[in-house]
Order: sequence, then C-alpha cells, then structure tokens
Amino acid sequence: AWFRDPALTRLFALLHADGGEVRVVGGAVRNSLMGLPVGDIDLATTLVPEVVVERAKAAGIKAVPTGIEHGTVTLVIDGTGFEVTTLRRDVETDGRRAQVAFGTDWQVDAERRDLTINALYVDERGEVIDLVGGLADIETKTVRFIGDADTRIAEDYLRVLRFFRFFAHYGGGRPDAAGLKACARARDRLKTLSAERVWSEMKKLLVATDPGRALLWMRQSGVLTEILPETEKWGIDAIPGLIAAEQALGWKPEALLRLAAIVPKDVQRLATLSERLRLSKAEAAYLERFALAPKPGDSVTDAVFDRDLYRFGTEGIIAVVKLELAAARSNVEGNPKSMARAGRLSVLLGRAQKYERPRFPLTGGDVMAAGADAGPKVGEALRKLEDEWISSSFSMDREKLLARLPEILKS
Ligand code: ATP
Ligand code: MG
Repeated sequence: AWFRDPALTRLFALLHADGGEVRVVGGAVRNSLMGLPVGDIDLATTLVPEVVVERAKAAGIKAVPTGIEHGTVTLVIDGTGFEVTTLRRDVETDGRRAQVAFGTDWQVDAERRDLTINALYVDERGEVIDLVGGLADIETKTVRFIGDADTRIAEDYLRVLRFFRFFAHYGGGRPDAAGLKACARARDRLKTLSAERVWSEMKKLLVATDPGRALLWMRQSGVLTEILPETEKWGIDAIPGLIAAEQALGWKPEALLRLAAIVPKDVQRLATLSERLRLSKAEAAYLERFALAPKPGDSVTDAVFDRDLYRFGTEGIIAVVKLELAAARSNVEGNPKSMARAGRLSVLLGRAQKYERPRFPLTGGDVMAAGADAGPKVGEALRKLEDEWISSSFSMDREKLLARLPEILKS
C-alpha cells in the first residue's frame, strides 16, 4: 500500500526521467518486506542535489536542503517529507563518520551502506533490487554487515551500535557470529564517537519491542560496558520483567524507563551517566528522580503517597512505581508477599495516574498583607505554610492558613 502512495508515484515520475534514476531504499523497503509498518520513505537517486531541487521547484514541490553537504534534499508533498539522497561512494574516513562523494553506481551505493537488510532498493516498477544479499537475510532475520565486518566497522564505529540496534528490532535467533566478534574487537574504539550519536543510537535500541536479547549480546561482547559501565554491577536482569509488565498493562515503551531499569538508582552515578552521554536536562532530571523520589513501601498510606505526588510530581512518581511494580510482578509466582505488593503498587499507580495536583491557596501577596516586607522572608513563610498544608494532607483551607500567618512570621 505504501508503494501506491500518490506522492511517491509523483516523485518517481519526476526523478526517474531524462537520464535520472530513483529508487526507494533503507527502512521502508526492509520493513515492508518484513511485513512491518513503513515509516519514513527514503529515496536514492543518480541525480545530483542541484538537479533534484531544480526539478522539484519546476513541479511546484517544496525542496528543503536538509543535508545538502551529504547530498540529501527533503521533498515535501502534502506535508509528508521524502528524503532524497544522491548515490554516494566513500572516499576516505577517520572512523568517526564516512566521507562521501556523489556517484551513479547502484552497486557502490549499496556496498557503502552498513547492513544487508538496509541496502535493498525498490525501483519505479515496484521491483525489489538486491545487490548485497539482503533478501536472504530478511528471510532469516539475520543482521549482517555488508562485506568484511572489521573493515566496515573501522569506517564508522557507530556501526557497532547500529548492529545491535537493528538486531534488537529485526534480528531473530543469534546475531551473526562474524559481526558479533568484530563488534567485540572494536569495543574500545567506541569512546571516539560523539556522545550525541551514541545516545541517539542507544535510545533507538532501547525502544525496541524487546531490547533484552540485544542488551545481553552487547554485554557478552563487552560493548555494553564501554557505553554504560553502570550496568556492569546491576545487570540487565530487570528488562524481561519490565517488558512483561509493559505488555500486560499496556504501558508504551519508553527508552528512559528502560534505561532506569538497568542502572543503579544513585544520584552521583546517574549524574555521571547523564553527563557522559550528554543527556538533555529533562532526560537527566527524569533519571535523577529514581534516586531522589521515595520508593513506595508496602504499607504507604494514600495520604503519604499523595504528599509524595505533590512534592515530586506525578511523572517521576509514576515512573518509579512502574519499575517497582514490574519488579514485584516478576516475583509473584508462589510468593504471596510479592503478590500483595504488586496489588498495592497497582492501586498506587492508578491513583497517581488520576491524581490532580491541589493548588496551594496562598500567595506572596497574602504574606505581605499580613505585615511582612517584600524580600526572602515572604518566600520562607510561604514555604513553611505550604509544608504545614502538605502535612495536613491538604486539608487546611485559606482561612486556616491565614490564621497561622502571624505566628509563622514571628518565628
Ligand atoms: P529507520 O527505520 O530507523 O529510519 P533506516 O534503515 O531508514 O531505519 P536510517 O538511520 O534512517 O535507518 O538510515 C537510512 C539508510 O542509510 C540505512 O538503511 C542505511 O542503508 C544507511 N545508513 C545510515 N547510517 C549509516 C551508517 N552509519 N553507515 C552506513 N550506512 C548507514
Ligand atoms: Mg530512515
């Protein structure tokens, strides 16, 4: 169905003409052959970017030079973007990112890609073109480097992580033995990669339906320890339980929750990790909450739990409860204590998901109206009153809080 898309038909007519050739390549071809949903459609063409832009403009199609130096132009039709990339050949590499020049040879273009399953093309007639044995590997769900694995990895060490990422999503059985060994041999080169590329690749790996097997092979090959030394001690044993809980309870896969499951919940170590992989501020804060937010004990009352929700925010508490619940669920068999704990945690999770944060009824204006001068004292008094209000399980109303003000201001 994706192939009959009128926008795609239009692009074929536009670019497969007057000496130009164009084919769909990469994820769209791979996924459709595997019977999986097709996301973005990437196109490869023998036309140079300037000509792609010219033809698009002449046809009234918007052309955005998203990566013109790598030969990529994004053509936008009815709001959908198609990345059109001119065929390339590698000229030199420093092992961090391949340098490329434009070319017109499909075989060369296929051979400079990383994995056989990513190097299949579909031409304008819908014909699949396999230049590197990708079809057989799709059939057997084999994730395999094109050509000599050590050589391909040395051109771009990120391919080590891509190997495990694509194995996590599309691989069956074991990873290709030659590829796995080459990844193990290259592990100490991973530190030459930029943190941004590593983390972006790891995130994509972590959201696979089940990243557990890929993580095990990463650990076995020593690659995981290079990227996430924090997992060494704590292990990745929590992943199967988390995946089972996600599937049973309909939680959507989250890279950060899965990462949190496999690293120590320790402020310092989480900060080191966040800094090393250059996580965004929001991502680092999310992780830090696993160390800071209280773990809901078996006997935590609703009132105490609501106070935690108020103090730490629902998002953080929900994430912490999810991990605790997943862990409890994986121990329930023949274990009445874990069963009771899982039951209680489910109730708390539901409570957190429905929680509406109460609004503290006083402002700085109220404090000043009671006689305080503008300054740090106002904030201090407000905070003290807010604490009393939280301790009352939010039962003190505006009236009662105002009545407490004079005494608070005196102390
Ligand atoms: P996704 O579904 O994640 O988009 P994809 O296969 O389209 O999967 P992209 O990262 O979008 O992956 O890259 C598009 C294509 O470009 C790949 O299929 C592969 O052929 C090639 N490619 C991308 N990155 C590399 C790399 N580091 N080394 C070699 N080839 C690469
Ligand atoms: Mg893609």
